[in-house]
Amino acid sequence: MQTISNYIDGQLVPAVSGGWLEDFEPAAGQAYARIPDSHKTDIDNAVAAARRTFPQWSATPAAERGEWLHRLATLVERDLEILARAESLDSGKPLAVARSVDIPRAAANLRFFAAAASQFASESHAMESGAINYTLRSPLGVVGCISPWNLPLYLFTWKLAPALAAGNCVVAKPSELTPMTAYLFSKLCIEAGLPAGVLNVVHGLGPKAGALLVEHPEVKAISFTGGTKTGANIASHAAPKFKKLSLELGGKNPTLVFADCDFERTVAESLRAAFSNQGEICLCGSRIFIERSLYARFRDEFVKRAQALRLGDPLDEQTEQGALVSEPHLQKVLGYLDLARKEGGKVLCGGRRANLNGRCAKGWFVEPTVIENLPPDCRTNQEEIFGPVVTLIPFDSEEQAIAWANGTPYGLAASLWSRDVSRCHRIAARLEAGLIWVNCWMLRDLRVPMGGVKQSGTGREGGWEAMRFFTEARNVCIKYE
Ligand code: NAD
Repeated sequence: MQTISNYIDGQLVPAVSGGWLEDFEPAAGQAYARIPDSHKTDIDNAVAAARRTFPQWSATPAAERGEWLHRLATLVERDLEILARAESLDSGKPLAVARSVDIPRAAANLRFFAAAASQFASESHAMESGAINYTLRSPLGVVGCISPWNLPLYLFTWKLAPALAAGNCVVAKPSELTPMTAYLFSKLCIEAGLPAGVLNVVHGLGPKAGALLVEHPEVKAISFTGGTKTGANIASHAAPKFKKLSLELGGKNPTLVFADCDFERTVAESLRAAFSNQGEICLCGSRIFIERSLYARFRDEFVKRAQALRLGDPLDEQTEQGALVSEPHLQKVLGYLDLARKEGGKVLCGGRRANLNGRCAKGWFVEPTVIENLPPDCRTNQEEIFGPVVTLIPFDSEEQAIAWANGTPYGLAASLWSRDVSRCHRIAARLEAGLIWVNCWMLRDLRVPMGGVKQSGTGREGGWEAMRFFTEARNVCIKYE
């Protein structure tokens, strides 16, 4: 049993109460580590440490803050294998995914915002009447970063890097389901000699440690990524206190396939969009709308490839589909498979829990599942499943495809596959989603605004958007003769 500690004021410490929570290995279905069950005193201590350090950190030249982030990135790159293995064990994702996506992206986040620290600039507006406005942008103070389990170190660093680059001190609360790499990252901060209190990591339950962080009067902003219901709960507590809020929430993303698409690329990429990380990426395309004339050909090829995905021990180099993150999440996904059948869905492949042998015999695996024959407005096609489950739906016109794509309460991402450039622009402008990919999926430029519309969230991350979120703008207007 490994022990994970909080990282508060530069020290690795247990919860003050001495309470612990179990951390499970999804592929084995058993506990393998314990994390602090943090409560009020732990959050208070972390916030106090961050407050004490804020004057010093915010006065540190921006380029120097960037240097600290570069140093941390170098350590993440050095420990790529250790971190990738830890991420795979902790979350159930294939080692190959952690190694090629999660950990390199964590280092890239740190480097990107290391550069942003010294390049961030504010605006100036000259007035014809003989006055000039300039905007001062100051860090907020202590900010809270709450991250989910699906891309643990990736999303943890995506928040803390801009917050630190902008001169804030951070109290971070990683998901209790995947705390390991945030803990290992705390150790790297100690190794790098990051000043105590700049970053504090408090582990524990969302409704307990997370909620206390949201409520804390000294925490000026909350950057949250997670489920829509949790986001609504956080907003209801933070809004009356006038905290800045960035909410990156759930999705039910459409993939639109037109008959004139590049067939080979479209099948390959829509498969990747459906099943990457077992479908546990907020950007996954879980509803595939296909122009009717292409439907049968696309369906047959898609199902053939979904059946060929290698499901297995996440630590096996060949594995493409790992385990789901937790037993409750497994039950949730299996519940949706029952619902899809009740709603009249025809399961073309998968549709069941997968039973493996050896050390994975008790693991939480679900076969990649493709379903057809479900109307766009049924619950299976409206609610976020967040697992390896995708539905196929034929459409007859562009209007119909757009209406169905937009026809959920969510609006995070969409992808569109066609060789007709005019059509791509026309449809992209009408899709209700924060991120629209044309003839690609999850091609990420860290400068672009990232976030959702409707119930997929408010606020944007990425590039200057994140730097603006983590700073307060004050305008100075000077009149001259
Ligand atoms: P979750 O909402 O259960 O938890 C996310 C984080 O919030 C965890 O750290 C959790 O401990 C904490 N938390 C839970 N309740 C809280 C409360 N009352 N107060 C404060 N903190 C609380 O989400 P999850 O299950 O970890 O993640 C999956 C969800 O995240 C999916 O809906 C997915 O779509 C979404 N997601 C969105 C994005 C995006 O960029 N929009 C990215 C990744 C994941």
